[in-house]
Amino acid sequence: MATKTISSIYKKTSGVFLVPEYYKNFSCKGKDCRNTCCSGWQVLIPMKEYYKIHGLECKKSVRERIDKTFKPLASRTESRFAEIAFDFEGKCKMLTDEGYCFLHQSCGETVLPSVCRYFPRGPRIDYAWECSTSNSCEKTLELLYESNDPIRFEQRDLTFEMEIPANKPKDSDKEMYISVRENCIEILQDRSMSLPDRIVAIGHYLQKLDMNPKALPDRFLEGFAFRQDIVSSIKVARELGDWFIHNTGSLEEYFIIVDNLYDDLDISTIYKQSKTHFEAILPNHEILFEKTLVNNIFFRQFPFQDYTDNFKDEFIALCGKYLIMRYLTIGLMTKYKSKNDFIDIIARIFRTIAHTGFEKNVMIRLKQKGYHLVSTLGELIQL
Ligand code: SF4
Repeated sequence: MATKTISSIYKKTSGVFLVPEYYKNFSCKGKDCRNTCCSGWQVLIPMKEYYKIHGLECKKSVRERIDKTFKPLASRTESRFAEIAFDFEGKCKMLTDEGYCFLHQSCGETVLPSVCRYFPRGPRIDYAWECSTSNSCEKTLELLYESNDPIRFEQRDLTFEMEIPANKPKDSDKEMYISVRENCIEILQDRSMSLPDRIVAIGHYLQKLDMNPKALPDRFLEGFAFRQDIVSSIKVARELGDWFIHNTGSLEEYFIIVDNLYDDLDISTIYKQSKTHFEAILPNHEILFEKTLVNNIFFRQFPFQDYTDNFKDEFIALCGKYLIMRYLTIGLMTKYKSKNDFIDIIARIFRTIAHTGFEKNVMIRLKQKGYHLVSTLGELIQL
């Protein structure tokens, strides 16, 4: 029986996209993936995709699996209408034993909900034509960490079936996006400074941009010589973890493990021991964090995300993200000893960041704690 596709709600979009160099080598690991991306988070689909999938003309076996997999939410809106149901192991009910999607295999890619169709790819055509893959995918991280070279970008002809954005940014905003993005990545890849200092340099730049949209980053930056106050930084990270556990449940297991680590002895000693272990396993850790952040800010269209209307708040969220990433990985790696373990932790952290309001929440919490100045945030992230 022929399959009626849902491509009518998408437009074929072909063009030249800016992509990171690793993008051409990306392919899903399928059954070899340790942490498949369709588990561990609530996958929501909009109303129109739900009804299109349920309206497919397809075989009985596919129909039965569709009925079991796509379930309307009790409290639903047009954009958050249904969720993908998981089996008792927490896996999508469409996932085959070989690690592939049954719906994709049976009916082709065009019938998939958009979130499944492209994830972990993130094609964008609003501010600029760009595409990369998310840090929440372990294959992406493996490609990123293959070498110590900074991430380079290239242009590639790509085609996607995608929804055309309803609102198009003005040309002047597009120009600003491209130049601000380039400057932020250039600063983040300037290895003459420590990584926390590069993040601070981005903060100074974004602060200037909030006052003058044509501002340029300061040239000839030098290290900022911030005081390191491990006890205060860990205290803030623990409090943030506590808030996330009680308010969103995000990364609960990770936050509890690391929080327990700092329960008994003095915080500085535990941190130093954990960091020594961490750096012995990952001597190039600063490069790994740099590449993780560069890939993330490219994927997330930083600093033009939609949870705030000023650049400084995006900087605060960036600091919160870096703080939590360091706090959790250094703490959790006390139990592990391989790069793959590090990759699994980073993928899980970014799965939460990608699918929850993590950035907005961490920004608001840090501001409530009085961390809104570049100087205090600069000190906070020196861990
Ligand atoms: S996380 Fe990446 S490698 Fe794993 S199933 Fe998803 S796309 Fe494939």
